[in-house]
Amino acid sequence: MIRKTGLLIGIILISLAATFAKEGIWIPTLLEKYNIAEMQQMGFRLTAEDIYSVNNESMKDAVVLFGGGCTGELISNDGLLITNHHCGFDAIQDHSSVEHDYLTNGFWAKNRQEELPNHRLSVRFLHRMEDVSENILAGTEGKAADSVAVIVARNTKKIVAQANEKGKFEASVQPLFYGNQYFLYVYQVFEDVRLVGAPPSSIGKFGGDTDNWMWPRHTGDFSLFRIYADKNNQPAKYSADNVPFKPKKFFTISLKGVKSQDFTLVFGFPGRTQQFLPSQAIQQIMEQGDPDKIKIRDAKLSLLAADMNKDPKVRIQYAAKYQTTSNAWKKWQGEVKGLKRMNAVAVKQAGEAEFKKWIDDNIERQKRFGEVLPAFEKLYRQFEPYTKANDYYAEIVFRGTDIFNIISSFDPIEKRWSQLTSGDQSKLQEAVKLKLEDHFKDYNRATDEKVFAALLRMYFNDIDPQFLPADFKVLMSKTSSEELISNIYRKSVFSDQSELKNVTDNLTAKNLQKLVNDPAFKLFRSLKKHFELNVEPYFSALQKQIDETQKVYVAGIIEMNQGKPLWADANKTLRVSYGKVEGYEPMDGVVYDYYTTLEGIMQKDNPEIYDYNVPQALRDLYENKDYGRYGQNGTMNVCFTASNHTTGGNSGSPVLDADGKLIGLNFDRCWEGTMSDLMFDPERCRNISLDIRYALFIIDKLAGAGYLLNEMVIEE
Ligand code: ASP
Repeated sequence: MIRKTGLLIGIILISLAATFAKEGIWIPTLLEKYNIAEMQQMGFRLTAEDIYSVNNESMKDAVVLFGGGCTGELISNDGLLITNHHCGFDAIQDHSSVEHDYLTNGFWAKNRQEELPNHRLSVRFLHRMEDVSENILAGTEGKAADSVAVIVARNTKKIVAQANEKGKFEASVQPLFYGNQYFLYVYQVFEDVRLVGAPPSSIGKFGGDTDNWMWPRHTGDFSLFRIYADKNNQPAKYSADNVPFKPKKFFTISLKGVKSQDFTLVFGFPGRTQQFLPSQAIQQIMEQGDPDKIKIRDAKLSLLAADMNKDPKVRIQYAAKYQTTSNAWKKWQGEVKGLKRMNAVAVKQAGEAEFKKWIDDNIERQKRFGEVLPAFEKLYRQFEPYTKANDYYAEIVFRGTDIFNIISSFDPIEKRWSQLTSGDQSKLQEAVKLKLEDHFKDYNRATDEKVFAALLRMYFNDIDPQFLPADFKVLMSKTSSEELISNIYRKSVFSDQSELKNVTDNLTAKNLQKLVNDPAFKLFRSLKKHFELNVEPYFSALQKQIDETQKVYVAGIIEMNQGKPLWADANKTLRVSYGKVEGYEPMDGVVYDYYTTLEGIMQKDNPEIYDYNVPQALRDLYENKDYGRYGQNGTMNVCFTASNHTTGGNSGSPVLDADGKLIGLNFDRCWEGTMSDLMFDPERCRNISLDIRYALFIIDKLAGAGYLLNEMVIEE
């Protein structure tokens, strides 16, 4: 049955209503079969082979997975890469200090020697991908879910071992449609990626959190990096001897600009969508998961912001952490609104009723799919308290505070130390040293202790007491927040760099034992142990059953829609979305245009508001209308919206025109469409892109880094 399902996965074209919005995040190797005719009908002038080809150079050779979860693209024959400012933010922040504040002032390497290495950054080129469903699922037919998992794991291991060609590539097999299909991805990984340029945050992050996920938008969200390789153009660890990488392909940049209804293609690494979730899951996300996480992050963000506003050092230290925390926090708010507006639960229920009708029509189907819907009903009811406890644990104990973050890396060290060889112990000693330097560079005790007290109070107040350890309940019921800080936080060696250094500079079993008795370490272990015994096993077991049910459900949906278009959920692999440049109507009586201009930046300009404080140099360029070849008729375009289906991970993706030329950089979605990871609304889901002309204008006119343009191919 499973193999048959794999073969049945197909597509028809959704009829286009008034809008051209195109739901779907498509697989590059299947474009020829499913999409190219429609794409060409919408205006695309190239072929599927131009986008993805194994034998010839194609667009895929100019697109990379940037870091852990963004996209970047090559724009020169010397390995120059452009991505979003918010994707390069960690690197920019990492190199910033009060003396060299690249966040505030921007950074431009004047020559290759000034480009800044980043020890935690890598990029991945997709070398090839392949549908391996048959091989992965071989031998699973008729087997129970547990055996299927074992067989799939064994087959995967074999395929991956072969595909990585003795370490030359990094290979992985990813499930699609909840394991009804599998694809192999083979990557080339480059680890020497250097920072070349970034505009000041007052441009790259213009509008800040206020404008994030919003239209109209005026953010110059870009930064430049360069990939370095060894002398044979092969991946290599950082070395001063490395040379700029020569890519198989880089994008030509077009200065033509965009018009309403122009065809656009977004090519990148979208992270995660969940279009097949049942109504119960959607309801839980809307009513419990998102609101809980928003509430926890509300508290954390306001404490961080208060301290960041007071002290420039703290502002730099917490800039990247703040951004990561607030990005999802704001998106969840838009998501809840959008799901409510769409009556998402009712829409899902209607889909489920249709599914049930399809099953009830046929005895054979009843046998195969009849259990699915009742199982969801039961499983999600059981799941509810565990997801809540799991969310709170993840948001508070797992990643809520700096102190628990650093403790969590010592927890396994202490447990495993005596079993390690002396060689491994010294490697670990070295790694710990680097880890602590990184950690304390971006740590402010006075800030984190407040977050610690506030979040632990929520942990105590909000979740079912059965999910809390007894010692924690006793502690919290008799301890004020001030006491929590003075008796636990400040007494902990993990809150003091030099004290911790004294213990960890010489890692021995005896020294590690000292950490075990540390009050914050003890508290962390108690919370973790209780979670691991009382939440995690139940959560995982239910999640596993839900996933198995989801797999059968999706197999049924595929079968029910035989011959109709189905796209596989995004899973951080290379995908194509296509649509048209177009605005939208966010609400009754309001129409949004598809582009913004420098005019809008000046309208928002307000030196009193951090997010809207336009740099003087940009004001001057505006006054003089000094836009060079990047402006048109005295106007400097900044951003535009289009109807490409995108998600997180598409940040930094190239936005290409009908001829495959680079016209923009995808960086966000509109507020009214943020629920598109769960449910797409063609009327309101729009991706937001930076107009590439604005990026070039900033590089050339504002930064005076025009020499970087010399290595690009720019078409007037
Ligand atoms: N701005 C988004 C992000 O950072 C991109 C998107 O989700 O559309 O994840």
